Amino acid sequence: MDFAYDDRVIAGISTPPGEGGISVVRMSGEGSFALADALFKGAAYVSGMAPHTLRYGKVTDPSGRVADQVIVSRMDAPRTYTREDTVEISSHGGDLASGRVLALCLSAGARLAQPGEFTMRAFLNGRIDLTQAEAVMDLIKAKSDLGARIAVRQLEGGLGDAVRGLRRGVLAGIAAIEVGIDFPEHGEVEGGMEALSEGLGRAMAEAGALASGYGVGRALRDGLAVAIAGKPNVGKSSVMNRLCGGARSIVDASPGTTRDVVEDRVSFGGVPVRLMDTAGIRGDPDGGVESVGIGLSVGRIGDSDLVLFVVDASAGLDAADLLALSHVPNEKPTIVLINKSDLPLCGGFGPAIAARLGSEGHKVAYLDGSGTFGPDTAAPDAAGALAVADAVGPPEKWYALCVSALTGLGFDALDGAVRHALGLDGLDPEGVGVVTSARHRDALDRAVTALREASDAIAAGMPADCAVEGMRRAARAFGSITGEDFTGDLVGEIFSGFCVGK
Ligand code: GDP
Repeated sequence: MDFAYDDRVIAGISTPPGEGGISVVRMSGEGSFALADALFKGAAYVSGMAPHTLRYGKVTDPSGRVADQVIVSRMDAPRTYTREDTVEISSHGGDLASGRVLALCLSAGARLAQPGEFTMRAFLNGRIDLTQAEAVMDLIKAKSDLGARIAVRQLEGGLGDAVRGLRRGVLAGIAAIEVGIDFPEHGEVEGGMEALSEGLGRAMAEAGALASGYGVGRALRDGLAVAIAGKPNVGKSSVMNRLCGGARSIVDASPGTTRDVVEDRVSFGGVPVRLMDTAGIRGDPDGGVESVGIGLSVGRIGDSDLVLFVVDASAGLDAADLLALSHVPNEKPTIVLINKSDLPLCGGFGPAIAARLGSEGHKVAYLDGSGTFGPDTAAPDAAGALAVADAVGPPEKWYALCVSALTGLGFDALDGAVRHALGLDGLDPEGVGVVTSARHRDALDRAVTALREASDAIAAGMPADCAVEGMRRAARAFGSITGEDFTGDLVGEIFSGFCVGK
């Protein structure tokens, strides 16, 4: 490694700032136990404690004044987070107690840990690979259950194992070619050119599949942006409030009351969502403020991953709906919420509205478990609605669903519709193929490009060694994901995004 590293004992506060039950100061590195002896007074010195045990005692300053009562844990290398000797001092919570303990560790000779430095040592000491180190941070920052499950899978080594397998395959290919070059009497390439070519093709397909999972992976990690759109007074704010479980947007019977973008965070079936209620879009805004709101709405629709387009079942579709609809691109995943379906005379409007959207050029799958949804029939249940969606075939980008923001009717089916529209149905968060990091995606793309060049060289009938250069680049790209090939810059960049004390 091209990497000079200061491996003195490091110390940092591992618990978040603020008030809490306890705070933990962690020290790691050779000499941690002796260093802790300088400040911990208990029935035994830390250096005299048995490995992997706890002790109650006091932390004192050099004059003997007690800073706090603490529990000290001694963990011996290599069975620790960092694979180094580690001491954790649990003090009372709050910033002052832990701050005093940390200051005493530093004055006893420890160096203040950089952000992520404990995890960086776990990586440098070979306990975890880079993908696992990155998963630690993803897990800490996870905003959804699914995001956390993907991070745990990565932490367990799922992605690292897959990429290491790819790298090993490419390195074996290079070795086979080099044996052929060094010992021509062994034949040109062990296993033949055809096998080599097939191997490259398989690696390319596998790496490409991993890279293409990035969009979904990113969405699950960082959340999706969902815009609620439609002409004024169709019930957008009411839909937002129903989804957020509280009064978040202004609901008013007069059109044009939501003049800017109101945001909230919710979860759809475990997927974190930033929900944006946008100003109603209409042709004759009644003043400057609303025009600005409309401009913002159109921008938000463009930026969103999914649009919830609200129409009023009691009114049917009119020119104003179609005008608002013209701001939603056909390729944008969209769920048309046919709202106010609790009102009388709305029965049968759902299919009619869905059909009308179809005639406007939007391929819409109408989700209705009962088939004859109306005020007097049962609400579409989620399972029934999705059975209809399944019958439609692979996920469409547009779905229509009868709901009532007033009574909650139909909202059960929305979770499933969202997952369908975003193509998240087949996603297995415990599968290895969920790439959540742009760094991993870029490296996989580089590997695919390099493998394609190698494969093209072979297909063009060039000698096998012409493929080696591309294969080496691919192996380096794979190695940069797991950390088998890394530079100091890369490691610095990755760990600088961590929190202090982790
Ligand atoms: P926005 O302008 O699109 O945000 O619409 P609002 O959410 O402000 O709602 C406009 C009016 O429609 C209000 O009077 C709401 O109470 C009413 N409304 C909204 N959703 C429903 C619904 O599902 N059923 C009925 N009956 N009225 C609704």
